[in-house]
Amino acid sequence: MDSAEFRVKGKEMVDYICDYLDGLGSRRVTPNVEPGYLRRLLPGEAPQQPEEWDSIMRDVDDKIMPGVTHWQHPRFNAYFPSGNSFPSILGDMLSDAIGCIGFSWAASPACSELENIVMDWFGRAIGLPDEFLSSGKNSKGGGAIEASASDCILVSMLAARAQVIRYLKEDQPDVEDSVFLPKLVAYCSREAHSCVEKAAMICMVKLRVLDPDDKCSLRGATLRKAMEEDEAEGLVPFFVSCTLGSTGSCSFDNLVEVGPVCRSFPCVWMHVDGAYGGNAFICPELRPLMAGIHFADSFNTNPNKWLLVSFDCSCLWVRDRIRLTSALVVDPLYLQHDHSDEAIDYRHWGIQLSRRFRSLKLWFVIRRYGITGLQAYIRNHIRLAKAFEELVRKDDRFEVHNDVRLGLVCFRLKGTDRINQDLLASINGSGKLHMIPSLVRGKYIIRYCVVAEHASDADIDHAWEVIQKHATELLEPSVEKDVPVPVKAAPVIPTKPDPSQRRLSRRLSFTRSVSREVFKRSMSRSSLHDGATPIIVPDDEDNINSDLEEDVFSTSCTIEDDRLAIVEEKE
Ligand code: PLP
Repeated sequence: MDSAEFRVKGKEMVDYICDYLDGLGSRRVTPNVEPGYLRRLLPGEAPQQPEEWDSIMRDVDDKIMPGVTHWQHPRFNAYFPSGNSFPSILGDMLSDAIGCIGFSWAASPACSELENIVMDWFGRAIGLPDEFLSSGKNSKGGGAIEASASDCILVSMLAARAQVIRYLKEDQPDVEDSVFLPKLVAYCSREAHSCVEKAAMICMVKLRVLDPDDKCSLRGATLRKAMEEDEAEGLVPFFVSCTLGSTGSCSFDNLVEVGPVCRSFPCVWMHVDGAYGGNAFICPELRPLMAGIHFADSFNTNPNKWLLVSFDCSCLWVRDRIRLTSALVVDPLYLQHDHSDEAIDYRHWGIQLSRRFRSLKLWFVIRRYGITGLQAYIRNHIRLAKAFEELVRKDDRFEVHNDVRLGLVCFRLKGTDRINQDLLASINGSGKLHMIPSLVRGKYIIRYCVVAEHASDADIDHAWEVIQKHATELLEPSVEKDVPVPVKAAPVIPTKPDPSQRRLSRRLSFTRSVSREVFKRSMSRSSLHDGATPIIVPDDEDNINSDLEEDVFSTSCTIEDDRLAIVEEKE
């Protein structure tokens, strides 16, 4: 493709994107295809000869789009938002065109410098203390854009691990670093995201998962007790990960209590994960939710979740950049340059060497919307979540299960977990709305998250209408059943059978099949269901226990090709 063809096809692509986004409302939210559908439609071998662009785009329409879950759909209310906006798309487009690999200042000065400036802009805009900004008075801190919140938490834990090993070696200089690993303990609440568990696995340290209070908030006394117990056993507390806006219920850990506990131990790094919730602090009235942030050593938030920036853009700030980079620095001759002493080399701030020009899209979004535009976006989502909460509370068949402070409402039908699983299965099966469940205080709840950029009162009303209708059908089986929306797909696509013609296994989600390993892992910590993990509802409503795995394997699932296929029982 030369630039003449690119001018034409690029403009067509912009039209295609606009038509796609403007027309989303007429599509099913989720695809209706079976695993392996695409392999049956595409050739097994890559083409030897170049193909016409139009023929590739025809396949996008006929074969790819039918298998897409439309995260930008106005009726997609699952997970947390997947940030997106036209300025962000254009930022990524330009970044792709520039195509620089900004591992050091010298590798592309503007790439490093813009990242540094925008991280300070954004940090200041969300009210972070000056110590976290590279331009802050007497500051040793600064920020970097990482690929994901998982990366932010992992690199923070790596820095904490390096710090505590240095501390322990002061008394035992001849001991090898790895000898300390079995003593190191990290802490988080049961509400923390599973990426904390993954970081601990990678760092080869113990993770102690603590019970939060009845508001799903980690409290200082709980943490202190656990850390003191571990210290008495000869272990070394070194890292605490707190959450502001948990995945399951958007709860907030109590940093005001946890901070002083961390400080009272000799060498503990306190990280604060605000992957979703942190973006809200762009609104000053929400900053009381981050009280205690000045105790933190590091903080992350993802504008690619809730600030209209497309994936990937996860912002990490640290109080002391040397403590971070000293854990990650490697400096071969071929990467050194004359300005290493005066300039930031972002390769020392994360795992990867090569880095995209990610700051462009964040810069475009901040400039195009302005802080006031971004505040208006966040406030609209919160207003709508509260409106949705009110609708739920007005219907006495339902109950709300979280403090609705941001854009997430956790609710359920009064009654058993099973009936709520059936309700969610029936709503999602209709293709009219997409939500995911989580466990809050041991109960299966349905998460309704306000997601679309221009979400409106009409979307909330429509969603509630769909939910009420399905609840009525479930609770009063004589009511006429909702007819599933026909799938908008080319006839060649093998689809799932009509959902109204089958009854789904109660024990596993209707939405996914899962590998045996994934299934086993998801049982390890019941609270870590973030929707990305399989949805599992115990047969016994009150207990998630180790018998479940046996039970599910033996009676509900068939194992094919090392994957669990969800059994669908014919009525
Ligand atoms: N932390 C929280 C609170 C989250 O909600 C999520 C994902 O939703 C993560 C961490 C992981 O985010 P990422 O996919 O960017 O690694």
